[in-house]
Amino acid sequence: FIEIRHAAKSFGALEVLKDINLTVERGQIVAIIGPSGSGKSTLLRAINELDPLTSGEVWLEGVQINKKLPHRQYEKHVNQVRQDIGMVFQHFNLFPHLNVRDNITLAPKMLKGLSTEEADKLAEEQLAHVGLSEKIDVYPSRLSGGQKQRVAIARALAMKPKVMLFDEATSALDPELVEEVNQVMKQLAEEHMTMIIVTHEMDFAASVCDRVLFMDQGVVVEEGPPEVIFKNPREERTKNFLRKHL
Ligand code: ATP
Ligand code: MG
Repeated sequence: FIEIRHAAKSFGALEVLKDINLTVERGQIVAIIGPSGSGKSTLLRAINELDPLTSGEVWLEGVQINKKLPHRQYEKHVNQVRQDIGMVFQHFNLFPHLNVRDNITLAPKMLKGLSTEEADKLAEEQLAHVGLSEKIDVYPSRLSGGQKQRVAIARALAMKPKVMLFDEATSALDPELVEEVNQVMKQLAEEHMTMIIVTHEMDFAASVCDRVLFMDQGVVVEEGPPEVIFKNPREERTKNFLRKHL
């Protein structure tokens, strides 16, 4: 469903990703863990071309995302494929000057040509999904961090993506707000949304993910089901990392 082949990425002389290969099946939930600077965010950002790879390929459902195309065609292609990929960042990135409804409806209206009526209906549905129906007219500054992140998730879902990417969606939140966001992600997991989740929360990864990838220094050191990676890792580097983070 998602295939990353021989992905490599350098920033100048710094090799941040080195020959990463990853296949994610439809409905699978993959966690990526690893130390700071190991390349987790860079890998996620490569999937939707926010940070294009230096070499290698990214495929989503038989379509190569990082196709080499003439500039204008490339822009069009990227705008198209990004509609299928929802991304949620650590810092919510809501538009501060728009209320919750308009935050959610902007992209469906602009990119998919939905009417205001259709888009508003979608916003209502998605807000109900994340348990925030009553906040539809509110501006982001009036929301808690956990609520902002749930709106960010609703906004991504409103595009009906084929896959959701989460980059430490809860790590900027106060501890008491983490659970409400994790709960929304768990619910998506139960609905079989395909997800790639970069996280520092090992318990959460263990409870929702089908597979865990441990990255260090730009390579996938080890991957497997959570019960193996967390309880019985093979590699020294994984053991060391987990000793510090479990
Ligand atoms: P963290 O857990 O801290 O978020 P990470 O695993 O997400 O770390 P990345 O953000 O992918 O790590 O960064 C990997 C490496 O690439 C780091 O050494 C970082 O300094 C470098 N890097 C990331 N983005 C850029 C950039 N735009 N220009 C130069 N170097 C970059
Ligand atoms: Mg990161």
